[in-house]
Amino acid sequence: MLFLNDVLQVFSFNILKVHNKKLFMVLLFFDKNNINITNKLREIKLSINPWKTPSPSSRHEEVVTTRYRIGHSRPTHLHLITKEDRPTCELCDKELTIKHIILERPKFNSSRQIIGNPPTMQQALGEENSKNIYHFFTNIGLAKLM
Ligand SMILES: [Zn+2]
Repeated sequence: MLFLNDVLQVFSFNILKVHNKKLFMVLLFFDKNNINITNKLREIKLSINPWKTPSPSSRHEEVVTTRYRIGHSRPTHLHLITKEDRPTCELCDKELTIKHIILERPKFNSSRQIIGNPPTMQQALGEENSKNIYHFFTNIGLAKLM
């Protein structure tokens, strides 16, 4: 497999970026040296191809789905603006993350059936579950808080 560093030995960074933007983006996405395991979107989306959005989708539905997919939402990130402590789950005292909300939080066990009780974030927030993600967050009351 070709990686960005291999290509950069032949082409300069700027030439590659300007003249073959798509190749540059593909290499950047898959570059093993750039893999950041804390990248929340990469945990659920393995390719750079756009996902098909089920129609009809409202703007609000798309925004909610996207924000929870990238792991940046008001419930989990408001503390960065307010300079307060990170929010924790009141039930198990774990850090309140999208992953905790979707896969672990006992409070949402019954609502989790909407997204098919997924064992992984990829299954929960993947393309196949696009339509159900918004319904899940609406059901647990977080769609309006995104
Ligand atoms: Zn919890």
